[in-house]
Amino acid sequence: MNAPLPGNLTQQWAVQRIWTPPDNALVAAGIEGEFVVARIRLVAMGLLLIAPTVNLLRDPSVAMFRVGFEVTLAAALVSGLIWLVLRRGAWRQWIAFASSAFDVTMVSVALVSFLAVASPLVALNSKVTFEMYFLAILATGLRYDARVCFVTGSIAIAQYAGLWAWAAARYDLADPAYVAEAGPYISVDLWTRLILMAIATMLAVTVVRRAQRLLFLAVHDRLTGLFNRGHFDRALVAAIDQAGRAMQPIAVAILDVDHFKRINDTHGHFEGDRALQHLAAMLQRSMRRTDVVARYGGEEFVILMPFTPHEAAVARIETMRKQVAAAPLELESGGELTVSFSAGIAGLPPDDAATGKDLVAIADRRLLAAKRLGRARVVGHDIIQPASVA
Ligand code: GH3
Ligand code: MG
Ligand code: MG
Repeated sequence: MNAPLPGNLTQQWAVQRIWTPPDNALVAAGIEGEFVVARIRLVAMGLLLIAPTVNLLRDPSVAMFRVGFEVTLAAALVSGLIWLVLRRGAWRQWIAFASSAFDVTMVSVALVSFLAVASPLVALNSKVTFEMYFLAILATGLRYDARVCFVTGSIAIAQYAGLWAWAAARYDLADPAYVAEAGPYISVDLWTRLILMAIATMLAVTVVRRAQRLLFLAVHDRLTGLFNRGHFDRALVAAIDQAGRAMQPIAVAILDVDHFKRINDTHGHFEGDRALQHLAAMLQRSMRRTDVVARYGGEEFVILMPFTPHEAAVARIETMRKQVAAAPLELESGGELTVSFSAGIAGLPPDDAATGKDLVAIADRRLLAAKRLGRARVVGHDIIQPASVA
């Protein structure tokens, strides 16, 4: 759940694969995107149904008109079904894959139907229908999942290439009868179409990855690489809600570096910054997967510990405090600097807090008590660590 430190940032982006699942904030954006696409699809299918309906009414004996109407009607019905499923709140991650695959496959089905009732070149040289592949590929970007973009683009390319290969194997594409109906067979043009589909796929993947990067920057603190306060506040609301529903304990700790102003004044702000990074790295390392560690402000940090009973939270932070005290920072100017912090901890149970804000306020009061008691200690509900200083 926690982010890598800034030193690893570049490397993280370099090695990040398309196959990385999106993080929670993007999953939420992807669900909204799926709804948007479902609505647009429904409206689009309604509009696309007009022409085949008019054609069919004009001359029901033309096979091409009949097939065109049936394919479009089937697509419109499935579009309505997807919309209804989403409206009932039945969203699953695979729906993004399935609905995107449906979009490109409907384009391919339409092309295959052209081949079946008209001619192979009507299918391969199709202008308007072919361009719908691009709409479907670009709409994958709204799912905010690079995997969906990649899979959908690949399906579209494979289907169009498959149609081409099949038509080339079965028909004489240079037959003047076909050419008269749908223009010449130019393989370079068809290759170009495949390349354009690959480019559209890459663009959709890039848009999603840019969104991921912007989101990363929006929720992290630049100096320490930890989550920022905004993210912590949101995570806290969700975690308290979840803990309440699951009847699980939850704890919050606020840490404040002792005499940090003195560190700045003695060693300069550069070393002060390094001290914050040093502490952040140590906190990050001792975190569990479900914990959220964030920089709350200046030299203050907050740690959200779901599924953690109060006594266990106090013990964990006290262990951290000892570890930090035992691992001084090596100063650039030579020498060592021991960083010490005080902490206040609140938890549900035992505290009486209705909201995350109340819980943080209780932890903050205990932090103040820790400072008043002489710093370098952890204060919880009736617990002061180390016990010897109580
Ligand atoms: P206490 O033990 O009571 O917490 O004393 P303190 O000196 O740590 O607390 P105080 O609030 O007086 O000082 C905090 C200092 O932290 C003041 C501010 O200049 C410094 N600070 C805040 N953010 C940063 C930062 O990003 N980098 C550096 N180097 N200093 C910072
Ligand atoms: Mg402070
Ligand atoms: Mg301080």
